[in-house]
Formats: sequence, C-alpha cells, structure tokens
Amino acid sequence: MKINILHAGYCTAPEHIAMHGGRWRTIHFPAMFALLQHPTFGAMLFDTGYSYRFFEETKKFPMRLYRWTTPVTLHEEELAINQLSTFDLRPQDISRVFISHFHADHITALKDFPKSKFVYMPHAFSGLRNLTPAEDVKHAFLRGLIPTDFASRSREVDMSQPILLPLEYAPFKTGYDLLGDGSIIGVELPGHAVGQMGLFARDENNKLFFFVADAAWLKRSIVENRPPHTITNLLFPDPEMYRNTLTDLHHYYLTHPDTHIIPSHCDETIKNYA
Ligand SMILES: [Zn+2]
Repeated sequence: MKINILHAGYCTAPEHIAMHGGRWRTIHFPAMFALLQHPTFGAMLFDTGYSYRFFEETKKFPMRLYRWTTPVTLHEEELAINQLSTFDLRPQDISRVFISHFHADHITALKDFPKSKFVYMPHAFSGLRNLTPAEDVKHAFLRGLIPTDFASRSREVDMSQPILLPLEYAPFKTGYDLLGDGSIIGVELPGHAVGQMGLFARDENNKLFFFVADAAWLKRSIVENRPPHTITNLLFPDPEMYRNTLTDLHHYYLTHPDTHIIPSHCDETIKNYA
C-alpha cells in the first residue's frame, strides 16, 4: 500500500491551549488527510481536510463562532480533490473514506467523493444523527457537511467483531480489521470525541503508520505525555478518557520508536512527510 500524508488548509490557535506549558504564540494546525493506495481496494482516504464548504456552513450565527475560535486558511490547490489529480486520481476513484470523527476539519470534503463508502465507528455518528439544531451548535457539528446519501454509503465498523492485536501493538489490545486483509486496523481512541478512530497501516516499504487523529494535537504531547490546557476539558466529551488515551499513546511511542505516529494537526510532523 502506498501512503501519502497531505493536508488541506489550516487553522490557528495558541500553542499553550493545544499543549499544557506550550508557548503563548499562535501556531498553525494543518488539517491532515492521508491517501492510502491499496493494490486491491484502490485509493482511499483517511479524513478529508478542509474544503470551502466549511466557510459556507459557518456563514451564519451561531456556527460563525466556530470560524472565530479557529480561523481557517485554505488555498485552492490544497483541496483534497485538487491534490488527487497530482496522483492521477479523480474524486470518483476514492473507494472509501475512513472517518476518524465528525469534527468539521475532518469531514468538510465528504461531499466531493460521490462513489466513496464511509467507514467509521457507529457510536461516532449515532449520537449526532438526531440532534436538534441547538444541539448541533453545542457539539460543533456542521450537519450540512454530511452527504444526503450518507446512510446508504455508510459501512459502519462492526464493533461485534474486534480482533485481538498482537503484542507489538501494546498497550492497544483490540482493533478492527477494516478491509479484512489485515492491512488497515482501526483502533478506538476515546476522549476527544465519541467513537474517535485511529488507524494502523503499513506501506509498501513495511513502514508502520499510526494515524491518531485528535487524540493529541501535537506530537510533542505524545512524546512528553503532556495534555492540552485544562480549558479544553470543556470541549471533550470525556477528559479523563482523553488522558488515558494520551498515556497509552505515550507508552506506545516509548516502546515503538520505528512507528510513524501521525497526529492530524501537528504542523512539524506533517511537514516532515510533505
Ligand atoms: Zn477533533
């Protein structure tokens, strides 16, 4: 499998919010997405990065607040659909989009992929499906980003069929074999969002990647087991679980120096793979 780490747009926020003890200055948080080209299953994405729909969906109050708290910059050439053309791929070639969780910066381009199946943990979306508009605001959920035929194209992860992970994945014990051939393993990374899913995937050179989505915003948080500012507890559905997940990632990092751990918004990490 070929793996490319890309991003579409970035938002800005103070570093000390993303990581306890960080600098007060504002830094860039790119919106990462990954292109996974599998010999049998074809081209697939992990998340989508930003698209211009983010601006359309946050034009009006109260969703405009979303744009104010995380100001977004996006250049046209960064859009996932535009970057695919450099790989000789069209939007309809994307067979699957693995969705880590339903925060806008991960799903704004879902509507650009007319043939994709959507793979995600069922509880990541079940709690959002029937929210009222007022509740959407509370969850920062931009409903307009969800394709109208989302239900029929969804392939929810079958949580009744976990696999026991070999010791080399410790402390992560269970996962989900998302394609049935062992090439992409989904693991739950709870705390930041309900049903957040990370992926283990190995490339054609046998390099193991671990996409950890927003379980940490910065790689340094994992390296130093350093959580975000406590104000972010207001954003997380389960702050205690967030800490547990971060500690697991820290232990995994210490014992697996060869794995490429990729947090979705770590500018330093993502630049390394550009
Ligand atoms: Zn998020």
